[in-house]
Amino acid sequence: MFDICIIGAGIVGSAIAKELSKYQLHICWLEKGEDVSVGTTKANSGIIHGGYAAKHGTLKAKLCRRGNELYRQWVNDLHFPLDMIGAFVIGFNDEDKAVLQKLYENGIKNGVKDLQIVDGDFVRQKEPHLNPDITCALYVPSVGITSPYELAIALAENAITNGVELRLNSEVVAIEKEKDHFNITTHYTPLSVHFDYPKNIKAKMVINAAGLHADDVAQLVGLHDFKIHPRKGQYLLFDKDQGPLVNSVVFQTPTPISKGILVTPTYHRNLLIGPDAQDVLEKQDLATDASNLARVVETAKKTLSTFDLRKVITSFAGNRAASDRGDFIIEESKVDGFINVAGIESPGLTAAPAIAEYVIDILRNKGLAFTEKSDFKAHRKPYHHVALMNKEALNALIKESPNYGRIVCRCETVSEGEIDEALKRPVPIDTFDAIKRRTRAGMGRCQAGFCTPRILEILFDQLHMPIETISKNVKGSEIVIGRTKRALEEEK
Ligand SMILES: Cc1cc2nc3c(=O)[nH]c(=O)nc-3n(C[C@H](O)[C@H](O)[C@H](O)COP(=O)(O)OP(=O)(O)OC[C@H]3O[C@@H](n4cnc5c(N)ncnc54)[C@H](O)[C@@H]3O)c2cc1C
Repeated sequence: MFDICIIGAGIVGSAIAKELSKYQLHICWLEKGEDVSVGTTKANSGIIHGGYAAKHGTLKAKLCRRGNELYRQWVNDLHFPLDMIGAFVIGFNDEDKAVLQKLYENGIKNGVKDLQIVDGDFVRQKEPHLNPDITCALYVPSVGITSPYELAIALAENAITNGVELRLNSEVVAIEKEKDHFNITTHYTPLSVHFDYPKNIKAKMVINAAGLHADDVAQLVGLHDFKIHPRKGQYLLFDKDQGPLVNSVVFQTPTPISKGILVTPTYHRNLLIGPDAQDVLEKQDLATDASNLARVVETAKKTLSTFDLRKVITSFAGNRAASDRGDFIIEESKVDGFINVAGIESPGLTAAPAIAEYVIDILRNKGLAFTEKSDFKAHRKPYHHVALMNKEALNALIKESPNYGRIVCRCETVSEGEIDEALKRPVPIDTFDAIKRRTRAGMGRCQAGFCTPRILEILFDQLHMPIETISKNVKGSEIVIGRTKRALEEEK
């Protein structure tokens, strides 16, 4: 019997798992996807917000500011991508300035430090490529950028190292409440590597961190008290030569109908523009379309007009888990021992560490004993990234492990050694995209055109799985169907 079962391995489930792993608790963690972070967590702006935007008094406001603070502490032990580059909310006239003043006052009430209303010259000094008509801005130095999937993976690795049992490809399909525990049934869809997971799990408590599907999971125990609606946001990602056009995260002044489109460098210094906001019917609908992306481009041009559209390397979309309550829903439900962590739309990526603290307080108030583990490992070893190493360090590493000298992905300079390393980490890997998220192989301008065959070979060699069973991500996305000559022979 587990003490706790966490459902969902997005950033929220990952932060909760990481925090709970400090204590002597037996924890099972179920994720229907093929990796950590494959829900909303993998596709967003990657901003660690300052906390000026969410309305004072809401959970969003309180947990955003605290989350921002906690990431700055956690990064020292867990070595995830985090760069506090600061943000501007830009304005063009007195009307915008009045809105910025309100945001400033809200930020002060939320406890955000170092906020400043600045003039156009201040903005131009830091951001020479932006629209010259900018007259004012709210400057927020405490805003950062991260790589959201690498962040979630870092937290998950630490949780697993400290004993949390993660089961991927395991969708929770039924939950029955017994007197003092829950019977949880999962549907396991193996990809190429088969794990022998039991189908039924018993746990004393359940934490529902199922993102867009938190309402569906709550309904499994008969709870119908909130609804999640998907709200799509689309983005364009540019090649790294466009990244230097901005140094900070640049938001537009929000209007009553729109938060505006942001322009930002990503942690890895691509240029990112987006997202728009569009209510959609299907939670799985992540399609991008030309007309919405054209609007994203037009709106972004108000901030920065000099980006080169020929340098777009991909487009993507993420769905916000908008709830009918308007704030985060983090509470014990009417079913004893079943905790909902739902409606975690923006700034959920930022707030996740503080959400984990908040959940632990709920569990503590329920009388759960929190005894710290004497052998808890706070530290997580960073990945080697040869692209970021200096010559001396790289030569020393190659001397020790020659695989770090064999480059697989030329766009992002990723070596075979980094792929070997990813395969030895605590979260099991059996898809191409899992390698991509950890090493950046395939993330560059050719979008995996060149490195795919070599990565497939490495997966084949190291995991001993038939090459035709290796999928890009979900079942059905297998990359090759067999050997060319065999296919031709079968056709005869
Ligand atoms: C366009 C956009 C931009 C955003 N920008 C930012 C930003 O810049 N900064 C910021 O702070 N926030 C941002 N956010 C919000 C942030 O991305 C989310 O708040 C956060 O990712 C939510 O994490 P989660 O863990 O709750 O959900 P998810 O990442 O969706 O994780 C939930 C997990 O539960 C799993 N699951 C679902 N059902 C089941 C089941 N039955 N059994 C097992 N597993 C299940 C899913 O597969 C999924 O992996 C943005 C969101 C969007 C959409």
